[in-house]
Amino acid sequence: MSKTRTIQEDCCSFCGRPRAAVDLLIRGETAFICDDCAEQAYGIVQEGKKSNFIPPDREEIKKPAEVKAFLDQYVIGQDEAKKYLAVAVYNHYKRLSRKGERDDVEIEKSNIIMVGRTGTGKTLLARTIAKMLRVPFAIVDATVLTEAGYVGEDIESILTRLLQAADYDLEAAERGIVFIDELDKIARKGDNPSITRDVSGEGVQQGLLKLLEGSIVNVPPQGGRKHPEQKMIPVDTKDILFICGGAFDGIEQKIARRLNTRVVGFNAGKAAERVDRDNLLKYIAPQDLKAFGLIPEIIGRLPVLTYLEPLDKKALRAILTEPKNAITRQYIKLFALDNIQLNFDEEVFEYIVDKAIEFKLGARGLRSICEAIMTDLMFEIPSQDCHNVTITRDYAAKKLDKTSALRLGA
Ligand code: ADP
Repeated sequence: MSKTRTIQEDCCSFCGRPRAAVDLLIRGETAFICDDCAEQAYGIVQEGKKSNFIPPDREEIKKPAEVKAFLDQYVIGQDEAKKYLAVAVYNHYKRLSRKGERDDVEIEKSNIIMVGRTGTGKTLLARTIAKMLRVPFAIVDATVLTEAGYVGEDIESILTRLLQAADYDLEAAERGIVFIDELDKIARKGDNPSITRDVSGEGVQQGLLKLLEGSIVNVPPQGGRKHPEQKMIPVDTKDILFICGGAFDGIEQKIARRLNTRVVGFNAGKAAERVDRDNLLKYIAPQDLKAFGLIPEIIGRLPVLTYLEPLDKKALRAILTEPKNAITRQYIKLFALDNIQLNFDEEVFEYIVDKAIEFKLGARGLRSICEAIMTDLMFEIPSQDCHNVTITRDYAAKKLDKTSALRLGA
């Protein structure tokens, strides 16, 4: 009896091979595993991790209307941008799903550029799209990019971020999405770039072009220049979707100038279309980006150009309560976890929105204003025997008066 047990114990519990037939037998509390099986198990675990990023089959690709409906749950307004994004993403994935099919028509990648004031939802849109598609997603800020050899980050660091977001699953990273924020900050400064070296402007645009147009880029997996010994990973950017965003402050003047010249120019005879002077961004065209200082090659590689509307009072009010993870819903959830029911009086929302507008903070300010109102309560309530709290306008005003507008970022 005891002999049988010894034989069983000295076998791999997975493949059944005895100790003598394997290189290594690892003992657990009630089982054994041999080195071969451990390696296989590791492979399965790795595959399982990769499955986060499994590309959809053609039938599974979400239709543009479905993409927009998903975005609607999280992002208020911005219908135009949502539509452009939805179509671009849909086409991108259709293009990927044709991989390997031989055909004369090669569909080009449709990288996107979104122009709109800060805090109007550019990053939120890109982030939400990536969440829906379950692809690796990285956000980078163009302001830190410089030409290789200068202080700042090399262009390749963009892909390092994407590789990290993909857990170094190269195949997944090569189908990922990169959001490049503040693209306007690398616009060429002035019309003559040759007077002084423009390390953070045109040079960076040239570097970026390489990524946007699709090429194989050697990427340092750890990023930075601190690890010169690291082995570079070649990343093919052909199928990476780039979404760029920027406020392009002052671009309205360029748009206005173009619209004016058109009116007095060859189009003058026709009744000029009534121009909505309050929202010139909606007329944005590639040549305005050129006038702003983006090089034509970059503009050519960002064929989908869309804009975000400034957020008005109604939109700000909606942002407070409507999105799936709206700020006020988050507080309600936090309190509910302590068995406390949190209510807001209607006028509180109006008040918060008015303050955000007064301090010129936009949507970004809604959160800091809410924090200023809620912090004392979140500190005190958990140690009190209280199960129901209502925030009134007076309470909100009292708490906010205590906080300097400067601390809110105004
Ligand atoms: P941008 O990238 O345009 O500067 P963000 O997307 O980072 O702006 O927006 C900042 C924050 O403001 C977001 O995290 C979100 O909470 C809120 N926000 C901005 N615009 C919207 C919107 N249209 N719908 C919902 N929330 C928004």
